[in-house]
Amino acid sequence: MSNIKGKSVVNGAVGSGAPTSRNKDLNSDFVFDMRALGRQPGTFRDETRTARAPAGVGSGLVLVLADADVTLDLRFEAVSEGVLVTGSAVAPLTGECARCLEPVSSTMEVSLQELYLYQPGPGEGEDDDEERFLDGDLLDLEPAFRDAVVLAMPLSPLCQEDCPGLCPECGARLAEAGPGHGHGGDVDPRWAALRRLDVSDRSNDRQES
Ligand SMILES: [Zn+2]
Ligand SMILES: [Zn+2]
Repeated sequence: MSNIKGKSVVNGAVGSGAPTSRNKDLNSDFVFDMRALGRQPGTFRDETRTARAPAGVGSGLVLVLADADVTLDLRFEAVSEGVLVTGSAVAPLTGECARCLEPVSSTMEVSLQELYLYQPGPGEGEDDDEERFLDGDLLDLEPAFRDAVVLAMPLSPLCQEDCPGLCPECGARLAEAGPGHGHGGDVDPRWAALRRLDVSDRSNDRQES
């Protein structure tokens, strides 16, 4: 198989001193320049950065809003085959309660541990989706961040642990409407049992006498 080159179109001149890269968006907050780290195994650099979240992280009911502040606290360590990234990302989550559809927001922290290999030789590793590669001097953390967040996201976010959801008849939020909410007529047997309880507080009277 021959080398495929020349497909990318580069706009604008690359100034001298710019990190080498074939096709990365140099402006992404998730791209880190590895030139200062060097390639001597065992050396490391710590870096903390606030990055704007890329669009489309998340699925279904929860997501990290685009441009939300993500705090990255990372260590880059040179190892013989590449750069090992360890650390954490803290990102705000926005979504809807899976039961009552109220807006829900929270913050999640994910741990990151990713090995980025130096560029493969021609024909090597090109088809391997499992591996991550440096792009010249640049390390793009975004795909690793994306994967880690999506894996760690709650599948069914709830506004509160025991959210009672919506009234099946009128759609009212039962957390607000209260347990007495009903529409007359047939009563769910579970509520019927509750109604038979005498909720007036008799025990207090006895204890105080
Ligand atoms: Zn809810
Ligand atoms: Zn109702």
